[in-house]
Amino acid sequence: METEEEAMKLILLGAPGAGKGTQAEILSHKLGIPTISTGNILRAAMKNGTPVGLKAKEYVESGRLVPDDVIIGIVEERLAEPDCAEGYILDGMPRTIPQAEALEARGIDIDCALSIEIADETIVERMSGRRTCPGCGATYHVVSAPPKTEGRCDNCSSELTIRKDDAPETVKARLEVYHRETEPLKAFYAERGKLKSVENQPTIEATTAEIAKALGITL
Ligand code: AMP
Repeated sequence: METEEEAMKLILLGAPGAGKGTQAEILSHKLGIPTISTGNILRAAMKNGTPVGLKAKEYVESGRLVPDDVIIGIVEERLAEPDCAEGYILDGMPRTIPQAEALEARGIDIDCALSIEIADETIVERMSGRRTCPGCGATYHVVSAPPKTEGRCDNCSSELTIRKDDAPETVKARLEVYHRETEPLKAFYAERGKLKSVENQPTIEATTAEIAKALGITL
């Protein structure tokens, strides 16, 4: 049985709004390993107007996927940092088969791809209440995970915003992209004996408990 001390390389799969970011943050604190969220890295790059950010903007804002080579470059660079030596959680990457193949080709061998299963209708409902911190990337929900002070981030006090790509039409486009491009990754990792799935639960805590059970860890 694995313990919190053991290195763990984990991929979180699931539709946009499945709760990957929220669960990644919880697991990251409990396991003491970093979360690498390509969405957060891209949003920070867009905010700072870096070359990657300028390239990514039109894709992110319309709910399309950023080209694989951009994503692979970002992740490769991030995984080379020393804090990733003891394990990490990949949140939102890979999102296509070529991205998963690129990880393998670079010898980036993960322990488990954990998929959070959730119905599309639940997502559309959920996304309308999502709020994001532009300062540190933390996410909240007006009903299920509100901040301590309304409209302000608990970690850094920045004013919370609604992501442009959380608009209902864009959410629909992102769900289509998910089913077409990302969902085939479940078969990819199942073939390698690495896929685990959990059902989304009514509360964040209950979903975390399901994940812990699936991973065989005590949180
Ligand atoms: P997320 O925060 O994970 O929902 O990502 C937000 C947006 O960033 C996505 O809709 C894509 O436009 C882009 N993005 C994030 N991760 C990836 C990835 N691995 N591959 C391609 N595009 C990505």
